[in-house]
Amino acid sequence: MDITGVGIGRGTAIGPVVRMASALQEPADVERDGKLDAQAEIERVKSSLDAVKSDLSARAKAAAQGDKGAQQAAPILEALGQMAGDPTLLDSISDLIKQGKTADRAVFEGFAGFEQTLTALGGYMAERAGDLHDVGQRVIADLLGVSAPGLPQSDHPFVLVAEDLSPADTAALDLSNTLAIVTTQGGPTSHTAILARARGIVAVVSAAKADELSDGMTVIVSAAKSLIIANPSDEEIQEARAAQASAAHAKDLRGKPGALKDGTAIPLLANVGKPEDADPALEYGAEGVGLFRSEFLFIGNAEPPTVEEQAKAYAALLSRFPGKKVVIRMLDAGADKPLPFLTPENEPNPALGLRGLRTLKAHKQVLEDQLEALVEADRVTNAHLWVMAPMIADQYESEYFVKLGKSKGLKFVGTMAEVPSIALMANEVAEVADFVSIGTNDLTQYTLAADRTLGSVSNYQTAWHPAVLRNIKLIADAGKAHNMPVGVCGEAAADPELAVVLAGIGVTSLSMTPVALDDVRAELAKYTLQEAQEKARRALAGEFYHCAMLA
Ligand code: PEP
Ligand code: MG
Repeated sequence: MDITGVGIGRGTAIGPVVRMASALQEPADVERDGKLDAQAEIERVKSSLDAVKSDLSARAKAAAQGDKGAQQAAPILEALGQMAGDPTLLDSISDLIKQGKTADRAVFEGFAGFEQTLTALGGYMAERAGDLHDVGQRVIADLLGVSAPGLPQSDHPFVLVAEDLSPADTAALDLSNTLAIVTTQGGPTSHTAILARARGIVAVVSAAKADELSDGMTVIVSAAKSLIIANPSDEEIQEARAAQASAAHAKDLRGKPGALKDGTAIPLLANVGKPEDADPALEYGAEGVGLFRSEFLFIGNAEPPTVEEQAKAYAALLSRFPGKKVVIRMLDAGADKPLPFLTPENEPNPALGLRGLRTLKAHKQVLEDQLEALVEADRVTNAHLWVMAPMIADQYESEYFVKLGKSKGLKFVGTMAEVPSIALMANEVAEVADFVSIGTNDLTQYTLAADRTLGSVSNYQTAWHPAVLRNIKLIADAGKAHNMPVGVCGEAAADPELAVVLAGIGVTSLSMTPVALDDVRAELAKYTLQEAQEKARRALAGEFYHCAMLA
């Protein structure tokens, strides 16, 4: 049986399935026994909320002392603990108890109400609804005196199959025994995916049919192929072992600059989300930073950070890359990254609404403050700072931003290519921008008109589509004609085979999540420029694209 999903990373694993215990039953909606006093029930809930809060915060502390991957989970666990301590949540649960609900039912309904609010907000907030649900389940388990649904214990290495993993689960995962993770739900931005990437765990998420896998069944999990093979043949196992061996070999080139077999340089850069991400970037041999997503300073705050706060964070990143290129992206608020103080509520189509440069233009002070902070960070460090704005549609917007950036004192100012219109105007854009960086995640979503956050259209989310590749070629050709660098910083750059195609199309650098660097570097080294160009020709003709909708 072959099961498809969304692969995270490139790894391959072989091993027996261990399924995660299923969720708690929904508490029955029955009238509370008259003998149960409302105040006593409220006290029970308070004590369970406290217990869960303390447990999560103890786990956060333990995670903070763990390996790098565990450390990333610490703030998430701490935030979950805060959710359990939210007084408005306790108020609404208390109201439900006073109306006659049992404690466990009131907790269930109280959390469900908050989950619905988050889901309605969409995007990033909607994904946090799952976290809140997990906290609610823990509270109910505590009230009932049963163990919370969680990770299975096993004394042998296993492939974990679950609906989705909560942040608490991912933090507690015993890596020495976990060969791979398969989830039936959760998209490429779920916690399972984020932490699998950070810890380099083989994972395939959103594999709905993995429900059919049973305990003990042998499976091959191939993240590169986004595939799970149940009860594989000997030949399939041999093939998977060969893939594992070649992945182990990929590390050998670490530390060498990215290049094709004939020496054509393709610098390999890292995508980072906060200054501390410089650690994995350098560890995996990044030659600089190709995309710093500056949203982290803004998300979770009620107002924008000050110029000083921003300058400090940018300088912290830049100082880790002396003499190297660091591309910082201006705040990309809106759509899948809504910010309450900048993004309008109730946009019917947020992806087509106020985001990226459109948001910044509508909040000029935020735009100017960020530029000022970048100029200051550049002044006190000696990396090569490149700055770009997201969601630029054409040469007019590109020129607006480039001129503004330079008027403030930035030296190298460019444009992200995420909206297909920019590919059609690429020659004009190349006349005004210092560089273009192609965000294939959004370029794919907008070229194929398929919301990147929606599971129902996730099969459109592939830059192997020849229409996406042809848009990239229009931009690369314009770059070549005007001697303008054209990089790719979307997920496509992290797919080794696609990276070869992009190099063949004429892209001049590739930026990706640090753990993908080894595999991409090793794959590029297998092709001459001529061979990469031949592969690109075939890809542009659609030869490697398989339409999942018609399969
Ligand atoms: C992209 O769209 O490809 C990109 C790199 O930006 P983000 O994923 O942050 O929208
Ligand atoms: Mg984008």
